[in-house]
Order: sequence, then C-alpha cells, then structure tokens
Amino acid sequence: MTFVIGSACIDVMDQSCIEVCPVDCIYVEDDDRMCFVEPDECIDCAVCEAACPVGAIFRDTDLPSDIAEFANLNKLWFEDKDATRRRVDALAD
Ligand code: SF4
Repeated sequence: MTFVIGSACIDVMDQSCIEVCPVDCIYVEDDDRMCFVEPDECIDCAVCEAACPVGAIFRDTDLPSDIAEFANLNKLWFEDKDATRRRVDALAD
C-alpha cells in the first residue's frame, strides 16, 4: 500500500504534502511539474491526503481509474526522471 499523487498536482505543486509527511518520502525537483511519492518509503499515514489543497493525493487502492497511470508514474520517477517528465508533459497538454 502506498499513497499516489495524481494529475491535479501538475503545475500546482503546493507542497503542503512535503511539509507534513513524517518520513519525507515526497519528492520534487526544479524540472518537475508535480510531486511524487516514493512507494517503498511511504508508511500509509494519510496525512498528505488531507493536506493537499487540490485533492491530488489518493491511497493507491482508491485511485480514480482515469488517473490510474499515476501509480506507475510515481514509481517511475525514482527510476527514470526524464521519462516520467515527458509523460507528465504529454498528460498535461
Ligand atoms: Fe508521506 Fe504519509 Fe503521505 Fe505516505 S501517506 S506520502 S508517509 S504523508
């Protein structure tokens, strides 16, 4: 189980989630258009879900089907940031 950041974060990146996450497992870099949860570090506390002002964060089992791809994108960012950024760009356009 992990939490997943979805499309509502794109170009918002409020980062309240990063401030509240107790294990610092939400990441973003200057070249990103959204934040990402490291699925192996997430302890499923749900604090970020409530903190996000745009409702971008979901428990993976509750992720709406139209943004299901973001479960993979949150993982992919930790393996291939450029590929993830290209896909986020494509989804945002
Ligand atoms: Fe961090 Fe908790 Fe959100 Fe996981 S559920 S990303 S541990 S705040």
